[in-house]
Parts: sequence; C-alpha cells; structure tokens
Amino acid sequence: MNAKSSILDKSQEELEEYCIKNGFKKYNAEQVMRWIYSCRLFDFSKMSDISKSLRKNLDENFNVVLPEIVDTKYETDENGSSKKYLIKFSDEETIESVLINYKNRKTLCLSSQIGCRMGCAYCETSSLGFTRNLTSGEIISQILTVEKDANFRITNIVFMGMGEPLDNIEEVEKSLNIISNDRFIGVAPRKITVSTCGMLNILKELNFDEYRYKIAVSLNASDNKTRSMIMPINKKFPIEDLAALINSKKPSIHNKTTLEYVLIKGLNDGIEDAKKLIKMFSPTNVKFNLIPLNKEQDSAYLKNFERPEDTAVNSFKLKLANAGFTVTIRFSKAVSINGGCGQLKAKTINF
Ligand code: SF4
Repeated sequence: MNAKSSILDKSQEELEEYCIKNGFKKYNAEQVMRWIYSCRLFDFSKMSDISKSLRKNLDENFNVVLPEIVDTKYETDENGSSKKYLIKFSDEETIESVLINYKNRKTLCLSSQIGCRMGCAYCETSSLGFTRNLTSGEIISQILTVEKDANFRITNIVFMGMGEPLDNIEEVEKSLNIISNDRFIGVAPRKITVSTCGMLNILKELNFDEYRYKIAVSLNASDNKTRSMIMPINKKFPIEDLAALINSKKPSIHNKTTLEYVLIKGLNDGIEDAKKLIKMFSPTNVKFNLIPLNKEQDSAYLKNFERPEDTAVNSFKLKLANAGFTVTIRFSKAVSINGGCGQLKAKTINF
C-alpha cells in the first residue's frame, strides 16, 4: 500500500490533474479545496457534496496532517498580544511562527525554510545554517495550525520568519496562490508582504514592478562596504543595483516598497548613513521601517553588535522624515519572547 501524501502540497492545477487522471471531474478539485481551506474540514468522508468514490479515493491516497505545536510563548501589553509557536513537522524539523494580534490586525509571520543560507550577521536564524526548504503545504499548515489554536482567522501575512522566501520561491508562490485565493484561505494580496534580503535575480523574475503582493527589502546599510559585511548577498547584488530596481518601480501611494533597516549602534545608524539613503531613494517609491536591533540576552551570535540609543534612532528617523520619506520605527512586538525580527531560531531548549 502506498504511503499517503499531504493534500496540502497540491496546487489547484495539480489536484485537477489528479481528479481527471483518476476518472473524476476537474471541478471536484475546487470542491475539495474549498472544504479544506474555506470550511477547515479535514475529513474526506464528511465532504458531503463529493461522490463516495472520490471520498474513498482521497482517503486512500492523501491525508491532512497538521504539524505539532511543541511550545508557545505569550506576551501581552495594553494594545494586544504576540504569541510565538514552535512548530514540528513529521520529520522532526522545527520552525517558528509568530502571531501578532494588535488592534484589528491578526498578523501571522511565516517561516519559509528550516534555517537559512543567506548568512546575515545580525540574524539569529542565520546561526542555524540551512537544513531544507519548506513545502507549500508546510507553509500553509502554519496558518491552519495557528488559527486552530487561536480560534480566529488571520487577516495579514508576512513572510518574515525563518528563511529567505525568494530562495524558496516556487513553494512560496504555490502557497500564496492558495493563501490569497478568496475561495480558499482568502487573505487579500494587499495584506500579504513578502520580505527579501535582496535576491535581485528572483525579484526581476517576479516582475517586481507588477508584483501583486507587497515587497519588503531588508536594506540595513547605506553603502556596499557595510552591507556586504552584514549581508553577504550584497557581494552578489550590490546596493546600487538593488536601488536601481526599486527606483524603477512606478510610484504608487498604496504599494511603496518597504525598506527594512535594522539599526546597529555605530555601524549603520549615523546621520551620514541617513543622508546617503536620501540620495539613493525617492520618497514616492519607498518607505522606511527602522528596527532597532533586537538582541537576545546571552546571544553569542550577536555579541559584536549593540542596539542604538533611542536618541540616535529618533535622529535617524527625523532626518529621513524631513526629506519626505514615510518612516516608522518598529520597536518589535514579541521582543521579550524572542519573536521579533531577526530573532527566530526554533530552539528546542530554553524556547
Ligand atoms: S535576515 Fe532573513 S535572509 Fe538574512 S539570514 Fe536571517 S532569515 Fe535569512
């Protein structure tokens, strides 16, 4: 008897092909996917508008097994709460997902890989190295698992957890087709952000100018020397090429590229850095999200870096804002539970 495979790994097209090949109708695929993603019914035998023979066939060949929540940590303040999940897949590999429930937004920060091979110096995930890509089903299963635990639907998605999403773009795109489809999970494209360290080759392939999801680029420096030091990807795709692509996008008030900028004391937080950024980008194309470095207590990996003083952060912000840029400072939610930007590490000990 064949081992069952996860139906969550199937795209609509793949399931349609499967149905036709096995003597069923093409439209049966959408019926099954609606049951799973819209109704959250994972038992094929209860899919009442589907023939008994298809139900039996699906039951013999597929399963819907959600990963296990191994541990959680919870943080709350007057505006809302954050919950970090340690999630284990069937091969025992673990990732972290973070639910940020502030005001009316229920944002889930998804992981796209087990570890990461990009080597960013300020990032805890980087210290894990790279193990493997997540499948599209594993990406989607983070949403289904967290929603089941939280008992509400996610409104916003950000790919800012473990891994570089563009380094696993096929599976990420496959998952996004189901996540953003209003007949399935139904999170609107404008509420989905894909973050990248700047894989220029993939950004070009994605047709960056017309990409329907929001893009956030981790910039983190104003010159090649500093950026290459903390982000090895910059040696392959230098900052001026990245800036040229970002600046080539047609200006849009509603879909500016977000430039994520982790501020590190004495390294990239000076007024001279802000001036270079002002020269490099246009306020009509980009907005800045400044993130004072999150540093885990006792983090050996980040031992050479310090979080800047609040006064330096505010001066940096003011300089950019006075030049017309929209600037936010993300004093990351979930910092006290190590679920802030660059802090995800899928620890099984001292989680
Ligand atoms: S910041 Fe993102 S791309 Fe860089 S190492 Fe960490 S997870 Fe990977």
